[in-house]
Amino acid sequence: MPKLVDTHAHLDASIYERDLDIVVRRALQEGIWIVTVGTDYASSRRAVEIARRYPEGVFAAVGLHPLRVGTRDMADDKLLDLEKFQELASDPKVVALGDVGLDYHDLPAPVGRGDRPDLAERIRTNQKKVLSRFLELSRELRLPLLLHCREAHQEMLEILETWDRTSRGFDSRGIVHHFSGTWKEARRYFNLDFLISFTGLVAHGGYRLDVIRKTPPNRLVVESECPHLTPNPWSIRRNEPSYLGHAVERLATARGVKPDELAVQTTKNALRTLRKLNR
Ligand SMILES: [Zn+2]
Ligand SMILES: [Zn+2]
Repeated sequence: MPKLVDTHAHLDASIYERDLDIVVRRALQEGIWIVTVGTDYASSRRAVEIARRYPEGVFAAVGLHPLRVGTRDMADDKLLDLEKFQELASDPKVVALGDVGLDYHDLPAPVGRGDRPDLAERIRTNQKKVLSRFLELSRELRLPLLLHCREAHQEMLEILETWDRTSRGFDSRGIVHHFSGTWKEARRYFNLDFLISFTGLVAHGGYRLDVIRKTPPNRLVVESECPHLTPNPWSIRRNEPSYLGHAVERLATARGVKPDELAVQTTKNALRTLRKLNR
């Protein structure tokens, strides 16, 4: 069993181009397994390629990030590359679907009066379309989801709750990553059988402390979200999976538990949720 599982890394980022193998081996030597997450089709394919290079400890997730969705009409599955995603997702190294979700943080401002379509509204509609196709894919392929959600938890929960009523027999739903919601929202995700994950950002006040403290031990996992969110912005430019221990220490402090205890628990949770890790 690994010591930790980094449930959300972006190893295909160009910033690792020159020394990716060293970065990966540094984590593996520490007993840290990695799920490298795609953000569009090309990036998902690279994620799978990277995972294939390592006989153990590196896995992939494939998805289309909401910020990559844009204003292009996604009504047609061909435009979305859904079949290609499906093909990629059947690779034994793929343990989840993600990034997928809703991100309303940086939408363009309404263009105002007149009959010009509201860009923001079009993007929101497209994000929801893509999300619903991936929810279907998740059920079809029995793969858990890595959900990305920013400033859209109400809508996300409504979509998932409708989906939940029609998806009987599905047992492993996934993780809402880099969780920004309230305790009330967290509880609704738990009722839908989702876990939530945090990075080391807890030290910089990036999350709601009450959520970190109240989340039941079996609902919590950890992630680096690398190359973003370096544990120490003044001395280290780029984050990487081998720093995940810092995140665990910070979360453990916030929860008032021992880091070792939290490490064992979050690893167990990751292996239970991302079932293909156990193969
Ligand atoms: Zn991500
Ligand atoms: Zn994300």
